[in-house]
Amino acid sequence: MDDAFRIPGPTVKMSDQAILNVAVPTPLRRTFDYLPPAGLSPAELDQLVAGVRVLVPFGQQKLVGVLLGLSKTSQLAPHQLKPAEQILDRAPCLPGPLLSLCQWAAGYYQHPVGEALATALPNLLRQGEAASFPTETVWELTTEGKGLPDGALRRAPKQAALLNALQQRSILSREDIRQLEVAPDAVRQLENKGLIRSRESTILPQASEGELHGEPPLTLNDEQSTALEQIRYQGFNTYLLEGATGSGKTEVYLQAIARVLEQGKSALVLVPEIGLTPQLVGRFEKRFKVRIAALHSGLNDRERLQAWLEARYGYARILIGTRSAVFTPIPNLGIIIIDEEHDLSFKQQDGFRYSARDLSVVRAQRAGIPLLLGSATPSLESLYNATHNRYLHLRLTQRAGAARPPEVELIDLRGQQLDEGFSPMLLQHIETELAKGNQALVFINRRGFAPVLICHDCGWIADCRNCSAKMTVHQHPPHLHCHHCDYQRPVPHSCPDCFSRDLEFLGQGTERSEATLQTRFPAVPVIRVDRDTTRRKQAMQGMLAQVHEGEPCILVGTQMLAKGHHFPDVTLVAMIDIDGALFSGDFRGPERMGQLLIQVAGRAGRASKPGRVIIQSHHCEHPNIQSLIKEGYHRYARRLLHERQVTGLPPYRFMALIRAESKRPENASDFLQHARQFAQQQFPATRHLHYLGPLPALMERKKDRYCFQLHINSSNRQHLQKVVQAICAQMENHALGRRTRWSVDVDPQDMS
Ligand code: ADP
Ligand code: ZN
Ligand code: ZN
Repeated sequence: MDDAFRIPGPTVKMSDQAILNVAVPTPLRRTFDYLPPAGLSPAELDQLVAGVRVLVPFGQQKLVGVLLGLSKTSQLAPHQLKPAEQILDRAPCLPGPLLSLCQWAAGYYQHPVGEALATALPNLLRQGEAASFPTETVWELTTEGKGLPDGALRRAPKQAALLNALQQRSILSREDIRQLEVAPDAVRQLENKGLIRSRESTILPQASEGELHGEPPLTLNDEQSTALEQIRYQGFNTYLLEGATGSGKTEVYLQAIARVLEQGKSALVLVPEIGLTPQLVGRFEKRFKVRIAALHSGLNDRERLQAWLEARYGYARILIGTRSAVFTPIPNLGIIIIDEEHDLSFKQQDGFRYSARDLSVVRAQRAGIPLLLGSATPSLESLYNATHNRYLHLRLTQRAGAARPPEVELIDLRGQQLDEGFSPMLLQHIETELAKGNQALVFINRRGFAPVLICHDCGWIADCRNCSAKMTVHQHPPHLHCHHCDYQRPVPHSCPDCFSRDLEFLGQGTERSEATLQTRFPAVPVIRVDRDTTRRKQAMQGMLAQVHEGEPCILVGTQMLAKGHHFPDVTLVAMIDIDGALFSGDFRGPERMGQLLIQVAGRAGRASKPGRVIIQSHHCEHPNIQSLIKEGYHRYARRLLHERQVTGLPPYRFMALIRAESKRPENASDFLQHARQFAQQQFPATRHLHYLGPLPALMERKKDRYCFQLHINSSNRQHLQKVVQAICAQMENHALGRRTRWSVDVDPQDMS
């Protein structure tokens, strides 16, 4: 095994009062002490290693915790300590380096360590299941069976056949026996005669041995080979591989992984939730003959555990996974690759709010291995690090193969007669492309029919009763739906305020655009791709297959279409409403808008059929739109970075957000007020430390609770850490905390 696996946890020699220090999954920011379980022998105690799971009594319950270490002292008197119930593992589920990464992360994100460790484990391990591969029943010969002379069972040919097979293969599974076509009777009779016996045997995956490579790699273009040659496989370095969709980043990943495999090491590849498609995994499987495990949300708990075990015990040499895969132990890890590193899904948005991208930096640094971040639209954080020489910047500026980047065209919506949000010019363009036998993609970032139901006579608007949000109108089936709290109700026939029947649907959702386009272009299929149409398993696959047939069609969808897919026959991409994104209340709004636009645009075209992008806006002269279109993402992002520097926002400063919510607004705001006062007494505001708030959240009321925020920002990361840590310690036991739900978000990505 790898060095990383040899580092033992802090074992302490057996003593009368050896005490287990356990991280238990509770919201309390502390660990708990237990006596060893009754019946644990001194030798077993001596072999205990940090990172094994321990079943412990906790109040009325039994919880699965993780052993952090052994000590001889506790703050509790010996008679107050309870014994743990059971040690669940022999080998640690979280070997030393992973355990310490999780502990570091719990500290950095100010999250209770027990919960942080639970997040790092697959669900079944969290529930206390064995961390071992499944078993099956097999049959083997007993000593008598082995000693049986030839031809001894001549009168029972079935039994003889079974014995014969066992003499050749030594064990047979139920499936093997079924294939021999002997009746179950024969098995029982041999067992009764004491000639064979059954036992449970572990089903180990096939180890990745022998040939590493499958299909030969592509010949790299100059930029790709320059990028690949810059990557060093010894020691820690971070590389930012910036290249448009289709510029050949994945090919660079594959060839970097090939080198890592050749050194006998393994690779971890993190991708966004939406990016982990069977096509992507298929591409890896074609290229390599080694075992590949994939960890994604489509797996059930059993499958997740299996993939995790294959990675943990080195059977899989490549692990491809979404966010939480960053916590998977992998012996002899040689590289971490993060595709679409800018993607929001790498940051967990509730509970343990870690960033898998940022933790990868820590993991790679500690393991002394390269980290490769790839994106067509890098985050401002990564660009900042690249421009400050913390990351090595690798760029691919051409599309691989021969495809050209798409042209972008603006349509000014002001004063135009729109047909349900579509300008005549856009409809004309769609018609032209369809007539040429091409496909079109219409992007709209809202599902449902219309985002607003309004009374034309008095202006009443259908609001959610739980949130400060409007109800979205849906037509399949007809109802009003709050996308924030899931509250649903029927569409009223008349206005509840003035009884007018003149209710109007305002704005466009995917359902409405689908209906409009289908009416307008009855001869071609209109395929809607959003959360509502892809709920069924395999639904997405079916729709993609239809698009890939290449017949003229129109795709209408949300950002589900923006990632991971490539549509070679789409020659026109339209974004029908980007003004909402342009005026977002989140300081990251412009960054996200730029990323979305470029990502959506990148879906289209191929060498023989270049793509074209059309954007509709009421604000075509907006400097952000102009810069993005005329200068491209890279220059645009540099402008945004400059703005962030001037306004003192991340990545130039570090930020933490404390959120509080309660049914009565004053509870949440008092809580934060108190937190701020407390912090300010110890850490007065200066040029390097700012407090802002309590402020109402962008969406003030959500799920029947009022939401407030306290922003703390500092030019020094360690200083900010100290402030937030002090606040947590103070407020955890504060009376105001009981009437409020509160949470901490370090390096927040979404300010809502
Ligand atoms: P990205 O990951 O940047 O979107 P890919 O690696 O998926 O780009 O490459 C886009 C397409 O170009 C793929 O079909 C890939 O097979 C092809 N491709 C990539 N590199 C080369 C190359 N050096 N020569 C020929 N085709 C390439
Ligand atoms: Zn009305
Ligand atoms: Zn709601």
